[in-house]
Amino acid sequence: MKFIFVSGGVISGLGKGITASSIGLLLKSRGIKVTSIKVDPYLNIDAGTMNPYEHGEVYVLDDGGEVDLDLGNYERFMDLKLGRDNNITTGKVYSAVIEKERKGEYLGKTVQIIPHITNEIKERIIKAARNSDADVAIVELGGTVGDMESMPFLEAARQLGRDIGRNENAMFIHCTLVPIMGAVGEEKTKPTQHSVKDLMNAGIRPDMIVCRCKEDITEQARRKISMFCDVDECAVISCPDARTTYEVPMILDRQGVADYIIKRMDLKYLCKEPDMREWKRFVDGIVSPKSEVQIAIVGKYTALADSYMSHLESFTHAGSQLNCKVKIRFIDSDRFMSENPAELLKDCDGMMIPGGFGTRGIEGMIVAARYARENSIPFLGVCLGFQIATIEISRDVLGLKDADSTEFSPETSNPVVHIMPEQLKVSGMGATMRLGRFRTAVAKGSRAEALYSGSYCDERHRHRYEVNQDYIQRLEDAGWKFTGRSEDGKRMEIGELEGHPYFMAAQFHPEFNSRPLSPSPLHKGLVMAAMEKKGIRK
Ligand code: GLN
Repeated sequence: MKFIFVSGGVISGLGKGITASSIGLLLKSRGIKVTSIKVDPYLNIDAGTMNPYEHGEVYVLDDGGEVDLDLGNYERFMDLKLGRDNNITTGKVYSAVIEKERKGEYLGKTVQIIPHITNEIKERIIKAARNSDADVAIVELGGTVGDMESMPFLEAARQLGRDIGRNENAMFIHCTLVPIMGAVGEEKTKPTQHSVKDLMNAGIRPDMIVCRCKEDITEQARRKISMFCDVDECAVISCPDARTTYEVPMILDRQGVADYIIKRMDLKYLCKEPDMREWKRFVDGIVSPKSEVQIAIVGKYTALADSYMSHLESFTHAGSQLNCKVKIRFIDSDRFMSENPAELLKDCDGMMIPGGFGTRGIEGMIVAARYARENSIPFLGVCLGFQIATIEISRDVLGLKDADSTEFSPETSNPVVHIMPEQLKVSGMGATMRLGRFRTAVAKGSRAEALYSGSYCDERHRHRYEVNQDYIQRLEDAGWKFTGRSEDGKRMEIGELEGHPYFMAAQFHPEFNSRPLSPSPLHKGLVMAAMEKKGIRK
Protein backbone atom coordinates (compact mmCIF):
# COMPACT_ATOMS: atom_id res chain seq x y z
CA MET A 1 0.00 0.00 0.00
CA LYS A 2 1.31 3.41 -0.94
CA PHE A 3 0.28 6.81 0.37
CA ILE A 4 0.13 10.28 -1.09
CA PHE A 5 -0.36 12.95 1.58
CA VAL A 6 -1.80 16.26 0.45
CA SER A 7 -1.35 19.22 2.78
CA GLY A 8 -2.13 22.89 2.42
CA GLY A 9 -0.42 26.10 3.40
CA VAL A 10 -0.78 29.91 3.43
CA ILE A 11 -4.59 30.06 3.48
CA SER A 12 -7.51 27.71 3.81
CA GLY A 13 -9.88 27.11 0.93
CA LEU A 14 -7.08 26.63 -1.60
CA GLY A 15 -8.78 23.73 -3.28
CA LYS A 16 -6.65 20.98 -1.74
CA GLY A 17 -9.62 18.66 -2.09
CA ILE A 18 -9.88 19.36 -5.81
CA THR A 19 -6.13 18.85 -6.19
CA ALA A 20 -6.29 15.54 -4.32
CA SER A 21 -9.32 14.43 -6.34
CA SER A 22 -7.74 15.45 -9.63
CA ILE A 23 -4.55 13.55 -8.88
CA GLY A 24 -6.70 10.56 -8.01
CA LEU A 25 -8.51 10.77 -11.33
CA LEU A 26 -5.24 11.02 -13.26
CA LEU A 27 -3.84 7.92 -11.55
CA LYS A 28 -7.10 6.05 -11.95
CA SER A 29 -7.25 6.84 -15.65
CA ARG A 30 -3.88 5.10 -15.99
CA GLY A 31 -5.27 1.95 -14.47
CA ILE A 32 -4.02 2.47 -10.92
CA LYS A 33 -6.49 1.64 -8.14
CA VAL A 34 -6.97 4.59 -5.82
CA THR A 35 -8.88 5.46 -2.71
CA SER A 36 -8.95 8.61 -0.68
CA ILE A 37 -9.12 9.57 2.93
CA LYS A 38 -9.94 12.94 4.45
CA VAL A 39 -8.52 13.91 7.80
CA ASP A 40 -10.34 16.77 9.51
CA PRO A 41 -8.84 18.54 12.50
CA TYR A 42 -12.16 19.38 14.18
CA LEU A 43 -13.52 17.83 17.35
CA ASN A 44 -16.90 16.87 15.93
CA ILE A 45 -17.17 13.10 15.62
CA ASP A 46 -18.66 13.56 12.17
CA ALA A 47 -20.30 16.25 10.08
CA GLY A 48 -23.81 15.07 10.99
CA THR A 49 -24.43 17.72 13.61
CA MET A 50 -22.79 20.57 11.74
CA ASN A 51 -24.87 23.48 10.55
CA PRO A 52 -24.61 23.79 6.75
CA TYR A 53 -24.04 27.52 7.27
CA GLU A 54 -20.84 26.80 9.17
CA HIS A 55 -19.35 24.14 7.07
CA GLY A 56 -21.33 23.61 3.90
CA GLU A 57 -23.42 20.59 3.10
CA VAL A 58 -23.31 17.36 5.07
CA TYR A 59 -22.41 14.72 2.53
CA VAL A 60 -23.94 11.26 2.97
CA LEU A 61 -22.28 7.99 1.95
CA ASP A 62 -23.73 4.60 1.02
CA ASP A 63 -23.03 3.22 4.49
CA GLY A 64 -24.83 6.15 6.10
CA GLY A 65 -21.68 8.04 7.09
CA GLU A 66 -22.34 11.77 7.40
CA VAL A 67 -19.10 13.31 6.26
CA ASP A 68 -17.22 16.35 5.09
CA LEU A 69 -18.23 17.62 1.67
CA ASP A 70 -14.74 16.97 0.32
CA LEU A 71 -15.64 13.29 0.19
CA GLY A 72 -18.23 14.30 -2.36
CA ASN A 73 -15.46 15.71 -4.55
CA TYR A 74 -13.49 12.47 -4.26
CA GLU A 75 -16.51 10.37 -5.17
CA ARG A 76 -17.38 12.59 -8.11
CA PHE A 77 -13.89 12.95 -9.58
CA MET A 78 -12.73 9.40 -9.02
CA ASP A 79 -16.14 7.76 -9.36
CA LEU A 80 -15.60 5.95 -6.06
CA LYS A 81 -17.86 4.69 -3.31
CA LEU A 82 -16.34 5.60 0.02
CA GLY A 83 -17.29 4.66 3.57
CA ARG A 84 -17.49 6.55 6.83
CA ASP A 85 -14.00 5.35 7.85
CA ASN A 86 -12.59 7.38 4.97
CA ASN A 87 -13.28 10.51 7.02
CA ILE A 88 -11.12 10.68 10.13
CA THR A 89 -11.74 13.55 12.55
CA THR A 90 -10.00 14.67 15.70
CA GLY A 91 -13.28 13.90 17.46
CA LYS A 92 -13.29 10.25 16.32
CA VAL A 93 -9.64 9.83 17.24
CA TYR A 94 -9.88 11.34 20.73
CA SER A 95 -13.06 9.55 21.65
CA ALA A 96 -11.56 6.21 20.61
CA VAL A 97 -8.40 6.87 22.62
CA ILE A 98 -10.34 7.98 25.70
CA GLU A 99 -12.56 4.93 25.46
CA LYS A 100 -9.51 2.66 25.31
CA GLU A 101 -8.00 4.48 28.27
CA ARG A 102 -11.16 3.87 30.31
CA LYS A 103 -11.03 0.19 29.44
CA GLY A 104 -7.47 0.04 30.70
CA GLU A 105 -6.07 -0.86 27.31
CA TYR A 106 -3.00 1.32 27.77
CA LEU A 107 -1.94 -0.72 30.80
CA GLY A 108 -1.52 2.18 33.17
CA LYS A 109 0.67 4.23 30.86
CA THR A 110 0.34 8.01 30.71
CA VAL A 111 -1.84 8.59 27.66
CA GLN A 112 -0.43 11.34 25.43
CA ILE A 113 -0.80 12.97 22.05
CA ILE A 114 2.42 11.28 21.02
CA PRO A 115 2.31 8.28 20.72
CA HIS A 116 -1.29 7.44 21.59
CA ILE A 117 -3.20 9.94 19.49
CA THR A 118 -0.74 9.70 16.61
CA ASN A 119 -0.84 5.89 16.71
CA GLU A 120 -4.62 5.95 16.61
CA ILE A 121 -4.47 8.26 13.57
CA LYS A 122 -2.00 6.01 11.80
CA GLU A 123 -4.06 2.90 12.51
CA ARG A 124 -7.18 4.55 11.17
CA ILE A 125 -5.47 5.73 7.99
CA ILE A 126 -4.04 2.26 7.38
CA LYS A 127 -7.35 0.56 8.12
CA ALA A 128 -9.29 2.79 5.74
CA ALA A 129 -6.66 2.23 3.05
CA ARG A 130 -6.65 -1.58 3.54
CA ASN A 131 -10.44 -1.79 3.34
CA SER A 132 -10.34 -0.50 -0.20
CA ASP A 133 -7.97 -2.87 -2.05
CA ALA A 134 -6.45 0.21 -3.69
CA ASP A 135 -2.81 0.52 -4.73
CA VAL A 136 -2.58 4.11 -3.62
CA ALA A 137 -4.42 5.97 -0.88
CA ILE A 138 -4.58 9.72 -1.22
CA VAL A 139 -4.78 11.26 2.24
CA GLU A 140 -5.89 14.88 2.42
CA LEU A 141 -4.75 16.56 5.59
CA GLY A 142 -7.43 19.11 6.41
CA GLY A 143 -6.54 22.48 7.89
CA THR A 144 -3.52 24.63 7.19
CA VAL A 145 0.07 23.71 8.01
CA GLY A 146 1.12 25.74 11.01
CA ASP A 147 -2.26 25.45 12.74
CA MET A 148 -2.04 23.98 16.20
CA GLU A 149 -4.92 21.60 15.55
CA SER A 150 -3.40 19.86 12.59
CA MET A 151 -0.04 19.16 14.26
CA PRO A 152 -0.91 15.62 15.45
CA PHE A 153 -2.04 14.69 11.95
CA LEU A 154 1.12 16.02 10.34
CA GLU A 155 3.18 14.12 12.88
CA ALA A 156 1.21 10.93 12.20
CA ALA A 157 1.72 11.41 8.45
CA ARG A 158 5.44 11.96 8.97
CA GLN A 159 5.72 8.81 11.07
CA LEU A 160 3.66 6.78 8.64
CA GLY A 161 5.93 7.93 5.82
CA ARG A 162 8.91 6.75 7.85
CA ASP A 163 7.29 3.45 8.86
CA ILE A 164 6.54 2.42 5.31
CA GLY A 165 9.65 3.87 3.75
CA ARG A 166 9.57 7.36 2.31
CA ASN A 167 10.97 6.57 -1.10
CA GLU A 168 8.51 4.62 -3.15
CA ASN A 169 5.79 4.25 -0.62
CA ALA A 170 4.96 7.73 0.51
CA MET A 171 4.85 11.06 -1.17
CA PHE A 172 4.02 14.50 0.17
CA ILE A 173 2.28 17.08 -1.96
CA HIS A 174 1.89 20.57 -0.57
CA CYS A 175 -0.63 23.09 -1.95
CA THR A 176 0.09 26.78 -1.56
CA LEU A 177 -0.91 30.18 -2.83
CA VAL A 178 1.18 32.39 -5.09
CA PRO A 179 -0.41 35.83 -4.92
CA ILE A 180 0.16 38.58 -7.44
CA MET A 181 1.04 41.97 -5.98
CA GLY A 182 1.28 45.52 -7.16
CA ALA A 183 0.72 47.32 -10.42
CA VAL A 184 3.37 45.32 -12.27
CA GLY A 185 1.66 42.09 -11.24
CA GLU A 186 4.63 40.41 -9.67
CA GLU A 187 4.14 36.87 -8.40
CA LYS A 188 5.15 36.46 -4.78
CA THR A 189 6.74 33.20 -3.72
CA LYS A 190 7.52 34.12 -0.13
CA PRO A 191 4.26 32.81 1.40
CA THR A 192 5.02 29.48 -0.27
CA GLN A 193 8.56 29.47 1.05
CA HIS A 194 7.37 30.18 4.56
CA SER A 195 4.71 27.55 4.54
CA VAL A 196 7.16 24.95 3.26
CA LYS A 197 9.45 25.98 6.10
CA ASP A 198 6.57 25.27 8.51
CA LEU A 199 6.12 21.88 6.92
CA MET A 200 9.82 21.13 7.21
CA ASN A 201 9.69 22.14 10.87
CA ALA A 202 7.20 19.33 11.27
CA GLY A 203 9.76 17.02 9.70
CA ILE A 204 8.14 16.77 6.28
CA ARG A 205 9.91 17.67 3.07
CA PRO A 206 7.43 18.07 0.22
CA ASP A 207 8.02 16.13 -3.00
CA MET A 208 5.74 18.30 -5.06
CA ILE A 209 4.27 21.79 -4.64
CA VAL A 210 1.02 22.76 -6.30
CA CYS A 211 0.71 26.53 -6.56
CA ARG A 212 -2.70 28.14 -6.75
CA CYS A 213 -2.50 31.39 -8.64
CA LYS A 214 -4.53 33.71 -10.81
CA GLU A 215 -2.57 32.86 -13.93
CA ASP A 216 0.11 30.32 -14.71
CA ILE A 217 3.18 30.96 -12.59
CA THR A 218 6.19 32.30 -14.47
CA GLU A 219 9.32 30.27 -15.09
CA GLN A 220 11.11 32.60 -12.74
CA ALA A 221 8.68 31.90 -9.90
CA ARG A 222 8.88 28.19 -10.60
CA ARG A 223 12.69 28.24 -10.42
CA LYS A 224 12.63 30.23 -7.22
CA ILE A 225 10.21 27.87 -5.51
CA SER A 226 12.17 24.87 -6.71
CA MET A 227 15.40 26.33 -5.40
CA PHE A 228 14.20 27.60 -2.02
CA CYS A 229 11.83 24.76 -1.22
CA ASP A 230 14.16 22.04 -2.45
CA VAL A 231 11.75 20.46 -4.94
CA ASP A 232 12.45 19.41 -8.54
CA GLU A 233 11.53 22.15 -10.98
CA CYS A 234 9.16 19.83 -12.80
CA ALA A 235 7.46 19.11 -9.47
CA VAL A 236 6.50 22.75 -8.98
CA ILE A 237 3.05 22.71 -10.48
CA SER A 238 1.04 25.68 -11.55
CA CYS A 239 -2.67 25.57 -10.88
CA PRO A 240 -4.25 28.75 -12.21
CA ASP A 241 -7.92 29.64 -11.75
CA ALA A 242 -9.89 27.29 -13.97
CA ARG A 243 -13.21 27.79 -15.77
CA THR A 244 -14.55 24.85 -13.82
CA THR A 245 -12.96 22.70 -11.12
CA TYR A 246 -13.41 19.74 -13.47
CA GLU A 247 -10.73 21.27 -15.69
CA VAL A 248 -8.08 20.89 -12.98
CA PRO A 249 -7.19 17.26 -13.83
CA MET A 250 -6.30 18.35 -17.35
CA ILE A 251 -4.28 21.31 -16.12
CA LEU A 252 -2.28 19.02 -13.87
CA ASP A 253 -1.93 16.35 -16.54
CA ARG A 254 -0.41 18.79 -19.01
CA GLN A 255 2.40 19.42 -16.51
CA GLY A 256 3.17 15.75 -16.13
CA VAL A 257 1.92 15.42 -12.57
CA ALA A 258 0.84 11.79 -12.95
CA ASP A 259 4.02 10.77 -14.74
CA TYR A 260 6.12 12.33 -12.01
CA ILE A 261 4.16 10.54 -9.28
CA ILE A 262 4.26 7.21 -11.13
CA LYS A 263 8.01 7.40 -11.56
CA ARG A 264 8.67 8.63 -8.06
CA MET A 265 6.50 5.96 -6.46
CA ASP A 266 7.39 3.24 -8.92
CA LEU A 267 3.74 2.54 -9.64
CA LYS A 268 2.56 -0.16 -11.98
CA TYR A 269 0.23 1.40 -14.47
CA LEU A 270 -1.86 -0.21 -17.18
CA CYS A 271 -1.85 2.57 -19.74
CA LYS A 272 0.69 5.28 -20.28
CA GLU A 273 -1.59 7.48 -22.36
CA PRO A 274 -4.84 7.66 -20.45
CA ASP A 275 -8.12 8.08 -22.25
CA MET A 276 -9.48 11.41 -21.06
CA ARG A 277 -11.75 11.92 -24.05
CA GLU A 278 -15.00 11.48 -22.18
CA TRP A 279 -13.84 13.74 -19.40
CA LYS A 280 -12.82 16.34 -21.95
CA ARG A 281 -16.21 16.15 -23.60
CA PHE A 282 -17.76 16.60 -20.17
CA VAL A 283 -15.66 19.73 -19.52
CA ASP A 284 -16.45 21.09 -23.00
CA GLY A 285 -20.14 20.68 -22.24
CA ILE A 286 -19.65 22.91 -19.19
CA VAL A 287 -17.47 25.61 -20.69
CA SER A 288 -19.14 25.97 -24.08
CA PRO A 289 -22.82 25.08 -23.74
CA LYS A 290 -25.28 25.69 -26.56
CA SER A 291 -28.18 26.94 -24.47
CA GLU A 292 -29.02 28.15 -21.01
CA VAL A 293 -31.77 27.74 -18.43
CA GLN A 294 -32.19 29.19 -14.97
CA ILE A 295 -33.29 27.10 -12.00
CA ALA A 296 -34.39 28.61 -8.70
CA ILE A 297 -33.28 26.87 -5.51
CA VAL A 298 -35.79 27.79 -2.84
CA GLY A 299 -34.39 26.93 0.55
CA LYS A 300 -33.20 28.19 3.89
CA TYR A 301 -29.41 28.01 3.59
CA THR A 302 -29.31 30.04 0.39
CA ALA A 303 -26.68 32.52 1.54
CA LEU A 304 -23.95 29.87 1.34
CA ALA A 305 -23.70 28.02 -1.96
CA ASP A 306 -21.63 25.26 -0.30
CA SER A 307 -24.75 24.20 1.63
CA TYR A 308 -26.09 22.85 -1.65
CA MET A 309 -22.80 21.77 -3.20
CA SER A 310 -23.94 18.35 -4.44
CA HIS A 311 -27.05 19.83 -6.02
CA LEU A 312 -24.96 22.39 -7.88
CA GLU A 313 -22.66 19.64 -9.08
CA SER A 314 -25.65 17.53 -10.15
CA PHE A 315 -26.93 20.40 -12.27
CA THR A 316 -23.46 20.84 -13.77
CA HIS A 317 -23.32 17.13 -14.66
CA ALA A 318 -26.82 17.18 -16.15
CA GLY A 319 -26.23 20.46 -17.96
CA SER A 320 -23.02 19.25 -19.57
CA GLN A 321 -24.75 16.16 -20.92
CA LEU A 322 -27.58 18.29 -22.31
CA ASN A 323 -25.23 20.97 -23.63
CA CYS A 324 -27.05 23.51 -21.54
CA LYS A 325 -25.72 25.88 -18.92
CA VAL A 326 -27.78 25.67 -15.75
CA LYS A 327 -27.75 29.01 -14.00
CA ILE A 328 -28.84 28.86 -10.39
CA ARG A 329 -30.75 31.53 -8.55
CA PHE A 330 -30.87 31.10 -4.79
CA ILE A 331 -34.04 32.40 -3.18
CA ASP A 332 -34.57 32.43 0.57
CA SER A 333 -37.93 30.72 1.00
CA ASP A 334 -39.09 33.29 3.56
CA ARG A 335 -39.34 35.82 0.75
CA PHE A 336 -42.30 33.89 -0.67
CA MET A 337 -44.26 34.95 2.42
CA SER A 338 -44.22 38.63 1.52
CA GLU A 339 -43.21 38.95 -2.11
CA ASN A 340 -44.90 38.10 -5.37
CA PRO A 341 -43.86 34.59 -6.53
CA ALA A 342 -44.12 35.56 -10.19
CA GLU A 343 -41.70 38.42 -9.58
CA LEU A 344 -39.33 36.27 -7.51
CA LEU A 345 -39.27 33.57 -10.17
CA LYS A 346 -39.00 35.91 -13.13
CA ASP A 347 -36.77 34.34 -15.81
CA CYS A 348 -36.63 31.04 -13.93
CA ASP A 349 -37.40 27.96 -16.00
CA GLY A 350 -37.63 25.54 -13.13
CA MET A 351 -37.51 25.26 -9.36
CA MET A 352 -36.00 22.98 -6.78
CA ILE A 353 -36.73 22.71 -3.07
CA PRO A 354 -33.81 20.91 -1.40
CA GLY A 355 -33.46 19.21 1.98
CA GLY A 356 -33.57 20.96 5.32
CA PHE A 357 -34.40 20.68 8.98
CA GLY A 358 -36.48 22.72 11.42
CA THR A 359 -39.44 25.03 11.12
CA ARG A 360 -37.93 28.18 9.67
CA GLY A 361 -38.80 28.86 6.05
CA ILE A 362 -41.35 26.06 5.67
CA GLU A 363 -44.44 28.11 4.87
CA GLY A 364 -42.56 30.03 2.18
CA MET A 365 -41.54 26.74 0.57
CA ILE A 366 -45.17 25.67 0.52
CA VAL A 367 -46.13 28.89 -1.27
CA ALA A 368 -43.34 28.31 -3.79
CA ALA A 369 -44.34 24.67 -4.42
CA ARG A 370 -47.95 25.74 -4.92
CA TYR A 371 -46.90 28.33 -7.45
CA ALA A 372 -44.89 25.72 -9.37
CA ARG A 373 -47.77 23.25 -9.31
CA GLU A 374 -50.41 25.72 -10.44
CA ASN A 375 -48.30 27.40 -13.08
CA SER A 376 -46.78 24.31 -14.72
CA ILE A 377 -43.28 25.27 -13.64
CA PRO A 378 -40.90 22.30 -13.69
CA PHE A 379 -40.35 21.32 -10.08
CA LEU A 380 -38.07 19.00 -8.16
CA GLY A 381 -38.42 18.39 -4.43
CA VAL A 382 -35.66 16.59 -2.56
CA CYS A 383 -36.18 15.11 0.90
CA LEU A 384 -37.72 18.05 2.74
CA GLY A 385 -38.88 19.21 -0.71
CA PHE A 386 -40.77 15.93 -1.14
CA GLN A 387 -42.46 16.41 2.22
CA ILE A 388 -43.31 20.04 1.34
CA ALA A 389 -44.93 18.97 -1.94
CA THR A 390 -46.99 16.38 -0.08
CA ILE A 391 -48.13 18.91 2.53
CA GLU A 392 -48.97 21.46 -0.14
CA ILE A 393 -51.07 19.02 -2.17
CA SER A 394 -52.82 17.79 0.99
CA ARG A 395 -53.76 21.32 1.96
CA ASP A 396 -54.76 22.67 -1.38
CA VAL A 397 -56.01 19.67 -3.35
CA LEU A 398 -57.37 17.43 -0.60
CA GLY A 399 -58.62 20.45 1.34
CA LEU A 400 -56.93 19.41 4.59
CA LYS A 401 -56.22 22.96 5.68
CA ASP A 402 -54.04 22.07 8.66
CA ALA A 403 -52.10 19.29 6.93
CA ASP A 404 -48.52 19.40 8.14
CA SER A 405 -45.48 17.44 9.22
CA THR A 406 -45.23 16.64 12.90
CA GLU A 407 -41.72 18.07 12.65
CA PHE A 408 -43.25 21.54 12.29
CA SER A 409 -46.61 21.11 13.98
CA PRO A 410 -46.64 18.20 16.44
CA GLU A 411 -50.34 18.67 17.25
CA THR A 412 -51.77 18.88 13.74
CA SER A 413 -54.94 16.86 13.17
CA ASN A 414 -53.66 15.92 9.69
CA PRO A 415 -50.09 14.65 10.07
CA VAL A 416 -49.54 13.81 6.40
CA VAL A 417 -45.84 13.65 7.16
CA HIS A 418 -44.83 12.08 10.44
CA ILE A 419 -41.86 10.57 12.22
CA MET A 420 -41.03 7.08 11.01
CA PRO A 421 -42.52 4.66 13.52
CA GLU A 422 -39.30 2.61 13.81
CA GLN A 423 -37.29 5.74 14.42
CA LEU A 424 -39.65 6.69 17.23
CA LYS A 425 -39.10 3.35 18.91
CA VAL A 426 -35.32 3.41 18.85
CA SER A 427 -34.68 6.89 19.86
CA GLY A 428 -37.53 8.88 21.31
CA MET A 429 -38.28 12.00 19.30
CA GLY A 430 -35.85 11.37 16.55
CA ALA A 431 -32.24 11.31 17.62
CA THR A 432 -31.46 8.82 14.89
CA MET A 433 -32.07 9.12 11.21
CA ARG A 434 -32.62 6.77 8.34
CA LEU A 435 -29.23 7.12 6.75
CA GLY A 436 -27.47 5.77 3.71
CA ARG A 437 -28.32 3.61 0.74
CA PHE A 438 -31.69 1.90 0.42
CA ARG A 439 -33.38 0.43 -2.60
CA THR A 440 -36.46 2.01 -4.14
CA ALA A 441 -38.76 -0.04 -6.35
CA VAL A 442 -40.00 2.06 -9.23
CA ALA A 443 -43.49 1.69 -10.73
CA LYS A 444 -43.96 0.37 -14.26
CA GLY A 445 -44.86 3.01 -16.80
CA SER A 446 -43.95 5.92 -14.50
CA ARG A 447 -41.74 8.88 -15.34
CA ALA A 448 -39.41 7.70 -12.57
CA GLU A 449 -38.96 4.42 -14.42
CA ALA A 450 -38.14 6.28 -17.62
CA LEU A 451 -35.64 8.57 -15.88
CA TYR A 452 -33.92 5.76 -14.00
CA SER A 453 -34.27 3.43 -17.00
CA GLY A 454 -35.11 0.50 -14.80
CA SER A 455 -37.38 -0.95 -12.17
CA TYR A 456 -35.38 0.18 -9.16
CA CYS A 457 -32.83 2.69 -7.94
CA ASP A 458 -30.38 2.69 -5.03
CA GLU A 459 -30.14 6.13 -3.53
CA ARG A 460 -28.92 7.67 -0.29
CA HIS A 461 -31.15 8.87 2.52
CA ARG A 462 -31.00 11.23 5.47
CA HIS A 463 -34.33 11.78 7.15
CA ARG A 464 -36.46 11.05 10.19
CA TYR A 465 -39.91 11.92 8.88
CA GLU A 466 -41.86 10.34 6.04
CA VAL A 467 -45.21 10.37 4.26
CA ASN A 468 -47.92 8.94 6.53
CA GLN A 469 -49.41 5.79 4.99
CA ASP A 470 -52.92 6.73 6.14
CA TYR A 471 -53.04 9.46 3.49
CA ILE A 472 -51.55 7.60 0.54
CA GLN A 473 -54.79 6.53 -1.08
CA ARG A 474 -56.31 10.00 -0.92
CA LEU A 475 -53.15 11.65 -2.24
CA GLU A 476 -52.90 9.20 -5.12
CA ASP A 477 -56.56 9.70 -5.98
CA ALA A 478 -55.80 13.41 -6.19
CA GLY A 479 -53.03 12.74 -8.74
CA TRP A 480 -49.96 12.74 -6.45
CA LYS A 481 -48.70 9.26 -7.36
CA PHE A 482 -46.08 7.49 -5.31
CA THR A 483 -44.18 5.84 -8.12
CA GLY A 484 -41.19 4.90 -5.99
CA ARG A 485 -41.50 2.93 -2.77
CA SER A 486 -39.19 0.98 -0.51
CA GLU A 487 -39.06 -2.69 -1.42
CA ASP A 488 -41.45 -3.65 1.39
CA GLY A 489 -43.85 -1.02 0.05
CA LYS A 490 -43.98 0.89 3.34
CA ARG A 491 -41.88 3.95 2.63
CA MET A 492 -42.92 6.49 0.01
CA GLU A 493 -39.79 7.41 -1.94
CA ILE A 494 -40.83 9.17 -5.15
CA GLY A 495 -43.86 11.28 -5.95
CA GLU A 496 -44.94 12.48 -9.38
CA LEU A 497 -47.88 14.67 -10.16
CA GLU A 498 -50.20 13.66 -12.96
CA GLY A 499 -50.96 16.20 -15.64
CA HIS A 500 -48.01 18.48 -14.85
CA PRO A 501 -45.07 18.86 -17.25
CA TYR A 502 -42.58 17.94 -14.49
CA PHE A 503 -43.47 17.88 -10.83
CA MET A 504 -41.29 15.25 -9.20
CA ALA A 505 -40.02 14.76 -5.69
CA ALA A 506 -38.04 12.17 -3.79
CA GLN A 507 -37.52 11.32 -0.16
CA PHE A 508 -33.94 10.29 -0.96
CA HIS A 509 -31.06 12.49 -2.07
CA PRO A 510 -30.23 11.78 -5.72
CA GLU A 511 -27.58 14.51 -5.64
CA PHE A 512 -25.13 12.30 -3.72
CA ASN A 513 -24.92 9.75 -6.52
CA SER A 514 -24.60 12.20 -9.37
CA ARG A 515 -21.36 11.77 -11.29
CA PRO A 516 -19.81 13.79 -14.13
CA LEU A 517 -20.52 11.07 -16.67
CA SER A 518 -23.77 9.80 -15.11
CA PRO A 519 -25.84 12.70 -13.79
CA SER A 520 -28.64 12.34 -11.27
CA PRO A 521 -31.72 11.29 -13.30
CA LEU A 522 -34.07 13.57 -11.36
CA HIS A 523 -31.89 16.65 -11.79
CA LYS A 524 -31.45 15.83 -15.45
CA GLY A 525 -35.20 15.44 -15.78
CA LEU A 526 -35.70 18.88 -14.27
CA VAL A 527 -33.20 20.49 -16.64
CA MET A 528 -34.81 18.76 -19.63
CA ALA A 529 -38.24 20.00 -18.56
CA ALA A 530 -36.86 23.52 -18.07
CA MET A 531 -35.32 23.41 -21.55
CA GLU A 532 -38.62 22.28 -22.99
CA LYS A 533 -40.47 25.05 -21.21
CA LYS A 534 -38.05 27.55 -22.70
CA GLY A 535 -38.46 25.99 -26.13
CA ILE A 536 -34.87 24.75 -26.38
CA ARG A 537 -34.38 21.61 -28.39
CA LYS A 538 -31.64 19.25 -27.30
N1 GLN B 1 -36.43 17.36 8.14
C1 GLN B 1 -36.89 16.30 7.32
C2 GLN B 1 -36.74 14.94 7.98
O1 GLN B 1 -36.06 14.81 8.97
C3 GLN B 1 -36.17 16.31 5.99
C4 GLN B 1 -34.74 15.95 6.09
C5 GLN B 1 -33.94 16.37 4.90
O2 GLN B 1 -34.39 17.15 4.07
N2 GLN B 1 -32.71 15.89 4.79
O3 GLN B 1 -37.30 13.97 7.53
